[in-house]
Amino acid sequence: MSRFFSEKYKSLVPYTPGEQPKDMKYVKLNTNESPFPPSKKAVEYAAAEAGKYQLYSDPECTDLVAIASRHFGVCKDCILFTNGSDEILNFAFMAFCDCDRPAYFPNITYGFYSVFAEINNVPYVEIPLLEDFTIDINDYKGIKGAIFIANPNAPTGIALTLSQIEEIIVSNPESVVVIDEAYVDFGAESAVPLTKKYDNLLVTQTFSKSRSMAGARLGFGIASKALIQDLNTIKYSTNPYNVNRATMAAGVGSLEDEDYTVENCKKIIATRERTANELKALGFEMTKSMANFIFARHREIDGEKLYLELKARGILVRHFSKPDLCQYNRITVGTDGQMDTLISAIKEILGV
Ligand code: PMP
Repeated sequence: MSRFFSEKYKSLVPYTPGEQPKDMKYVKLNTNESPFPPSKKAVEYAAAEAGKYQLYSDPECTDLVAIASRHFGVCKDCILFTNGSDEILNFAFMAFCDCDRPAYFPNITYGFYSVFAEINNVPYVEIPLLEDFTIDINDYKGIKGAIFIANPNAPTGIALTLSQIEEIIVSNPESVVVIDEAYVDFGAESAVPLTKKYDNLLVTQTFSKSRSMAGARLGFGIASKALIQDLNTIKYSTNPYNVNRATMAAGVGSLEDEDYTVENCKKIIATRERTANELKALGFEMTKSMANFIFARHREIDGEKLYLELKARGILVRHFSKPDLCQYNRITVGTDGQMDTLISAIKEILGV
């Protein structure tokens, strides 16, 4: 730390992204990326647009908003695109939380929420999950603040039903409820239709997972016009050109090629279920994941030991050191071939 670093950030503990080691070629199952390339249309559109980099990107994301509004069946003023969904989540902490309106989220969830709260000087309350890692929706009723729920949750993959989400929204009419649907396309129900009914709901999604565009950085939010207006005030006060030209064009290409996304999601869901069954047969316990990852622990082998043994064999999974999670590993669902490699390595480690 330099002697110039502001007092207000001195105690900030930044988010730790999944490791990206360069020492060898790994089977990368640690950052929930898609194992499939982006849509060819997305790549073509992006390449054509890169030739216009001398010009700023469209701050209103006009073409992308137009196709997204048709795709999601919401009005154009109800959508805001951002640089990954991390950006819109940060905007939501900036826009809807303050000393009088703390942020509420589960104690086990996406690690960035607490970092966004810290950097924005927002007090936050971490609500414990039940012992089986599920959310008790009764803990989220009558809250004065803003609620952040990843659905499906991370790193557990467990999803709430749409009616449970609606119950939370209805019971907090004076609080903004943010539903982070980064993994929704892998089997959970989206709350997007509820944004037409409730003015306190913000749904965020990303192109990083089901749309294979993690490296492009594209996320968005859908909400009532008034909430989107507030988020736009933050956007235009920080970075009006937050979505670059190539990414914006790629987003259009991806939405025009919806069948490709749907097919890839089907493949990932099928591979997830097959892999989960194989892991169960090898003595693993796991949560019911509706995401593109499996959160599992073995009855006998220590979580960190398994992570290290897999790493030594060229397979990266995500291990968390938090005491209540340290026996688990979060394994991204890759291709069938990658999962076969994983299962063979695990058999070798277990000596079966
Ligand atoms: N929400 C959750 C629950 C996530 O796991 C992630 C990915 N790390 C994000 C949001 C942010 O994804 P991105 O910024 O790539 O859209």
